[in-house]
Amino acid sequence: MKCFFCGSLESKVLDSRDTDMQKSIRRRRECLNCGKRFTTYETVEVVPILIIKRDHSRQPFDNNKLKKSILIACEKRPVSLEAIDKVCEEIEKEIYNSTSQEIESSTLGELVLRKLRYLDEIAFVRYAIVFKKFDNINQLVNYLSHC
Ligand SMILES: [Zn+2]
Repeated sequence: MKCFFCGSLESKVLDSRDTDMQKSIRRRRECLNCGKRFTTYETVEVVPILIIKRDHSRQPFDNNKLKKSILIACEKRPVSLEAIDKVCEEIEKEIYNSTSQEIESSTLGELVLRKLRYLDEIAFVRYAIVFKKFDNINQLVNYLSHC
């Protein structure tokens, strides 16, 4: 990190602390050349994850959209907002931890189904109906008997 005053690359960190919900780190530095102090900010660069839609178009992963779809599935069910947030967080973590920067919308859907299965069975069925696009009850029953 270049000194703001003399341009020297040698500095020591006096103090560092998280800011903005840990999204950036503020460091107080002292230049070893001129002794002046300055502050730097380090932020984590988040690489956007792209969702590959059924028609092969891509769009950036949107965690608000994800939460909304789960909220709809959980409507009027005894599921707390906290539990929904936790599921969203877990899904996000899995997506961002994967080595690929692109994920098929079908893979994302299966991931959501896996989580909903344990969260609330009715929410799971509702989500499956929308996501799997069943044509009739038989398809739904068939799916449920195999999952
Ligand atoms: Zn300096």
